[in-house]
Amino acid sequence: MKIEQLQLNNFRNIEKIELNPDKMNVFMGKNAQGKTNILEAIYYLASGSSFRTKEDANLIKFEYQSLFLRAIYNYQDRTINSTLSYDKQNGKIIKINAKKPGQSNANRLKTVLFIPDDLFLVKGTPAKRRKFLDFIIKQISTEYNYNLTKYSNVLKKRNLLLKKEQANGKSYEIVNEIFIESAVKLIIARLNYINILDMTVREIYQKINAEPQYLKIRYALSFPMDSGKINLETLRDTLRKEIAQKSEDEKKRRITLLGPHLDDIHIYQDGRIARQFASQGQQRNISVCLKLAEVESFYKISGYYPVLLLDEVLAELDDEKRQLLINYLLDAPYQCFLTSVSLDKINLSNASIFIIKNGFLLRKE
Ligand code: ATP
Ligand code: MG
Repeated sequence: MKIEQLQLNNFRNIEKIELNPDKMNVFMGKNAQGKTNILEAIYYLASGSSFRTKEDANLIKFEYQSLFLRAIYNYQDRTINSTLSYDKQNGKIIKINAKKPGQSNANRLKTVLFIPDDLFLVKGTPAKRRKFLDFIIKQISTEYNYNLTKYSNVLKKRNLLLKKEQANGKSYEIVNEIFIESAVKLIIARLNYINILDMTVREIYQKINAEPQYLKIRYALSFPMDSGKINLETLRDTLRKEIAQKSEDEKKRRITLLGPHLDDIHIYQDGRIARQFASQGQQRNISVCLKLAEVESFYKISGYYPVLLLDEVLAELDDEKRQLLINYLLDAPYQCFLTSVSLDKINLSNASIFIIKNGFLLRKE
């Protein structure tokens, strides 16, 4: 996908921006000028929600009543016209080629977003990493989406029965069977995705690092399992056995003690767990690398590239790493939008550089 035209009206501090983006676009400006707002607008148009607020009304420019966004983009040799309007009275209206799209409309703009908070992918809690994984696989597979909902419902039921000390009888048995089935499906889908991500991440990390370092990611189950022979059957058998073993413990503690809601992703840099051993800059580079790998894996699975949005991705990286990352993005086959406070010592040939000042956009030649 490549955005050819972008129009933003009354979005945050932006009254009006119209631009024809390049393959690589850089928004530069001082703090609080509207750089992140532009990425937020693209993300909002694509997904229908913001990554900074749950209240759509916050996105309308102060003292205005409505906002409007439009992107015209290429998708598989076709031109798609996507609009989003929101006003306080009538709510949000999304249209693709002038029609209201369904939730899983294939023509919707697809983005991958990096925000400074994504540093927590490396050093944050396992929940953060599971969310990252679920968010990606949900986008790619409606079946996964369905199984995830099913699993979280059955987990709630299972926990409730454990809590009420009713973890015996027939109904618990039925709940337990559904629990095992949906757990196994989630784990297999996650393992498959992690395999693709692992292959991709390794190559990218070597390109964006000055020193050759080896990045590896592994899916970490919440119960012991012989990693050599994982498939639906072996996973189902092992999970059933482990549940039986943990049964007394679960009844005592009155909560589910194993399952994909407790799994994790282990990230290793040169064989050592990155959360504990990587420096701040390295952690930043690893989380960026995961996002770049997300773009590539999206392509491998879907056959086309999403648009990449990178907010403050250069912060904390040294000059060499910055330039390596920029070179990688300049060479990449997909479109990219990047924000930065400064572009000191960075060679950005072939990129469109825009200066953002108080919500206005000036192109730098
Ligand atoms: P930084 O370098 O600090 O990240 P930035 O250029 O990314 O800065 P943005 O977050 O894009 O800054 O824009 C922030 C500005 O937008 C703030 O000055 C904020 O007050 C303003 N702003 C936020 N919401 C609205 C709104 N609904 N209407 C008008 N202005 C808004
Ligand atoms: Mg910002």
